[in-house]
Amino acid sequence: MTLSLSRLTGITHPWKFIGESLDDEKMECVLELTYDGKSAPCPECGAVCPFHDRSPTQRWQHLSMCLYKTFVICRLPRTKCQQHGVRTIAPEWAAPRGSFTLAFESVVIQWLRVCKKQEGVARMMGISDDSVRTIMRSAVERGLLVRPEPEPEHLASDEKGYGKGHKYMTVFSDGDTGTVIDVIDGRDAETTQKGLEKIVKPEALKRVKICSIDMSKSFFKALRAACPNAKICFDRFHVSMHISKAIGNARRQGVRELNAAGDEEGVKALKGTLNALRRNPETRSDKDDEKFEAAMQASETVATVWRHGEVLREFWDKTPNKKAKSFLRKWVDSASNSDIACLRRVGKLVDSHFQGILDAKLEDKTNAIAESLNSKIQEVRTIARGFKSFDRYRFNTLFYCGGLDLLPQETR
Ligand SMILES: [Zn+2]
Repeated sequence: MTLSLSRLTGITHPWKFIGESLDDEKMECVLELTYDGKSAPCPECGAVCPFHDRSPTQRWQHLSMCLYKTFVICRLPRTKCQQHGVRTIAPEWAAPRGSFTLAFESVVIQWLRVCKKQEGVARMMGISDDSVRTIMRSAVERGLLVRPEPEPEHLASDEKGYGKGHKYMTVFSDGDTGTVIDVIDGRDAETTQKGLEKIVKPEALKRVKICSIDMSKSFFKALRAACPNAKICFDRFHVSMHISKAIGNARRQGVRELNAAGDEEGVKALKGTLNALRRNPETRSDKDDEKFEAAMQASETVATVWRHGEVLREFWDKTPNKKAKSFLRKWVDSASNSDIACLRRVGKLVDSHFQGILDAKLEDKTNAIAESLNSKIQEVRTIARGFKSFDRYRFNTLFYCGGLDLLPQETR
């Protein structure tokens, strides 16, 4: 029995199973373990020390066996080190101060990756939501400890709203790999710069070649100061968001104009067209196509703003680099001289960030990575809706988007 328990649990010599009990009513199995050695390394310095005594009995939840919820109990040996005195040894099959074996934590982590609903994983594993969060948090802490120092060549920063009210966090990511480096609370210039300097070493920040940011002044100031040698690029993803917003405004303005002109048919044609207008022509359904055509016919305001968006898409996708500057200049002139206020605003915004937008195009940093990371973070925020603390957002983002090695070393 002892031999097979070692094999089943993966807890082997010098640990030895010395007893087991089954509670059929509770469907619980308790396995008693002891340390079968004469000495052990001091957990502080590693020096092999004689035993002093044993700790009171502790209990860890292990993976269920044949539907029996399984626990391991053990009185851990305490060593007496000449330098550090009496210390309880850290078993290699459980995390320090943890209530679960590493094998158990490892399975929880793997389930969380597949099924992102934390409450679902808690129920399936027979533990509380809090325990799932504790396991996630220690997985992230472990992952951050073994992660090499971040040295992004392409650093991206992005603000995300979180919680209730107007709270913002700044997400720093590696623009080439699409993984989150870390998240800080706040988005003003000073917080961003100081936060970044804590996350990435100053020498590494000096080696950053490209910073992709949105068009906010605070990010520009912070990243300019923190990464003195980097080219600051305003990426396509953020420019597109402003165009998309302008299309929404144009549609509202169109409705107002048609209402004022008493054109009921026109107003009707603009109803419910926002998604059709914002979608790329390639991804529009037949129904979207109809709505889109009707909206374009009904309102010149809508059509003008949409066409400007389309031309900007051409800038990113089709314009050769050598023509990019004059192409963008023409676009800016047309947009900033428009008599549609929302389009003029985007025109001026692009004008005041001209070089950074042009650099984003010339550097040809793929937008797909930024977009895919954004949707992953969005998913985490949806799951995390209702989190009260920034801290929960941070470790959830790092758990799912940090590209960290989350599994305990011993279980890999
Ligand atoms: Zn010691």
